[in-house]
Amino acid sequence: MTEPRRLMQADVVIAGSGPGGATMARELSRKGKKVILCEAGKYQERFGYSPFLLSMLDNFGLTFSKEGTWVMRPKTAGGASVVFCGTAVKPPAWLKDKYGIDLTEEVDELYEEVPIQPLPDSRIGPAARKIMQSAQDMGLDWNPIDKWIRADKCKQDCGLCALGCPTGAKWTAREFLEEAKRNGLELLLQTKVDRVLTENGKAMGVRAKGPSGWVDILAETVILSAGGQGTPPILQRSGIHDAGQGFFCDPLWFVAGPIESQGSYFDVPMTAGVNLFEDGIMMTDQGLPPMMYSSLLTLDGPKGWASLPRVLDYKKSLSIMIKVRDGLDGRINQDESFSKPLDYDTWWKLNKGAALAEEILTKAGADRDKLVTTTVVASHPGGTVRIGELLDKDCQTEIQNCYCMDTTVIPEAWGLPPTVTVVAMAKRLAKHLTIAAEAKVAAKGAA
Ligand SMILES: Cc1cc2nc3c(=O)[nH]c(=O)nc-3n(C[C@H](O)[C@H](O)[C@H](O)COP(=O)(O)OP(=O)(O)OC[C@H]3O[C@@H](n4cnc5c(N)ncnc54)[C@H](O)[C@@H]3O)c2cc1C
Repeated sequence: MTEPRRLMQADVVIAGSGPGGATMARELSRKGKKVILCEAGKYQERFGYSPFLLSMLDNFGLTFSKEGTWVMRPKTAGGASVVFCGTAVKPPAWLKDKYGIDLTEEVDELYEEVPIQPLPDSRIGPAARKIMQSAQDMGLDWNPIDKWIRADKCKQDCGLCALGCPTGAKWTAREFLEEAKRNGLELLLQTKVDRVLTENGKAMGVRAKGPSGWVDILAETVILSAGGQGTPPILQRSGIHDAGQGFFCDPLWFVAGPIESQGSYFDVPMTAGVNLFEDGIMMTDQGLPPMMYSSLLTLDGPKGWASLPRVLDYKKSLSIMIKVRDGLDGRINQDESFSKPLDYDTWWKLNKGAALAEEILTKAGADRDKLVTTTVVASHPGGTVRIGELLDKDCQTEIQNCYCMDTTVIPEAWGLPPTVTVVAMAKRLAKHLTIAAEAKVAAKGAA
């Protein structure tokens, strides 16, 4: 016997409440649309300690590719933005030059709405400063980076951004969700979208499973914003089997070493850095909380285990993160398992970054003999439903009225913090949908 299904109705139904989904919900609810958003995670409200962070991660953080690459997958209202480092990088020029997607207007709009800027001098911690000075002395263009952080609310020597900002200084997508809720958004938590409901090639809504069982949410427009790893399985279950191909995740690792004074742990992570765009390497200061540090060493096997005592130095360690642009050679499967081989090129970039980091840290005062390189982890899953292949320029899938709006849509290997691009793309899609709806009404009126 089939389980009974509840029925709900809206103008727009969205899967996933990360930066993509939350922006869509905010922009469309502002236009008076009735929006229902299904979020697979909960709305955790305790921040600042590693166990709280683990409760916001899928499978308590234990998400590995078939090849063993660790890809962190936050699953909570607001998506990965709740635990992101708050680094903002504008979309690369090739998005406009090659794909005709000009986000200038949307990025300007966003920078007016959210105070995105580098931290003022007074908020740049001593470790970030030391690293920056050392890198600049080596001739690197290492400078403060734009942050999604309100400096006036940011607590000195706190450094907890990636464990969930305890003061609300860091923007998260929950701010957009809250605004959307005030505009009438219905947010269904712990509700996982299973598939898109279709009729004659057209989206009719979604089928989801929530705390009280299955629900069919009927809507004229469906937006899939379940993230780089969440959206492809929904599409595969809806008949688009090529979704999930081309998965990138921008692998990263850390080089750290003890000094005699306060370490990177207390600073805002990614305060300053350099983008070696040609090489596809981004390097920034970033401290390691002890649990993350020990996990990254434990997962590295015997070499990492030998370095485990270094974790005790975490408060007095300078630390640099090296994030690289990987290839589109991964895959997300329907059961959410995934494959992500790290190829020669990726290792070349990781190693080049690590060698530079060792140089910078040594010059900044760290003892070269005590430097530690961690294992690899990744946190930018995307590229799995790319514009130009499975999506048109407006991010519509082959199912009419079913759109994707999250990191899945990024059409090429990436290597940059993607949140500004995703939010700007979502604003662009919301405008497109509003114009299309208005045109439809006008056409009806004329007829
Ligand atoms: C530790 C860390 C640090 C980072 N630092 C930065 C940074 O400094 N700057 C930056 O720009 N980016 C950073 N990122 C990456 C950035 O946070 C993500 O790229 C961004 O949040 C992606 O947005 P999204 O809309 O694609 O979806 P996500 O943020 O991935 O959200 C997707 C949401 O969908 C939900 N979901 C999944 N499946 C389903 C389903 N079937 N039904 C319903 N809901 C579902 C998930 O629970 C999740 O909440 C960081 C990421 C991590 C993990």
